[in-house]
Amino acid sequence: MDLKKYIRDISDFPKEGVVFKDITPLLGNAEALKVCVDRLQALYNSGQKVDKVIGIEARGFILGGMLAERFNAGFIPVRKKGKLPYKVKSKAYSLEYGADELEIHEDAIQPGDRVLIHDDVLATGGTAKAVCELVEELGGVVVQCNFIIELDFLNGREQLKKPVASLFNF
Ligand code: 5GP
Repeated sequence: MDLKKYIRDISDFPKEGVVFKDITPLLGNAEALKVCVDRLQALYNSGQKVDKVIGIEARGFILGGMLAERFNAGFIPVRKKGKLPYKVKSKAYSLEYGADELEIHEDAIQPGDRVLIHDDVLATGGTAKAVCELVEELGGVVVQCNFIIELDFLNGREQLKKPVASLFNF
């Protein structure tokens, strides 16, 4: 199945000059969604256990949650500043269009937990790098950063210095 046809380019979103990869057609099609989670799961093939899957707000929550169920792992949300109710660890980061702060609950990861990080798109890598740092500061081990789409021309992979796997490279 050609999943690429369910990803559309939106010009000048969220600001002029940016071509945004919109995954909502993929999410909205039952068969494409199932094939997408099958293929994302297959990207992690070390055979070693995953204890936690992190989904990055907001689009990372969707497939991240589905992957957690597939791996018999817990799901951990990483959210933008001020959204999580309990005690948090925070990390400032820069992204393709601005700067922000990400947070994780400080009890979300146990020392030694094997953590798979999922987001829809890897662009400059600033977001995923901040999440890797949060995981490691809590004593977790990042086993893979896993994306639907990787924008090669922004070199995000080089930022991460972790195992990176994506379904599509543009
Ligand atoms: P980075 O920090 O790697 O520059 O940006 C990645 C973050 O921005 C991800 O959370 C991702 O959801 C979002 N993002 C950046 N560009 C795009 C895009 O073209 N399409 C989508 N869907 N998300 C994007």
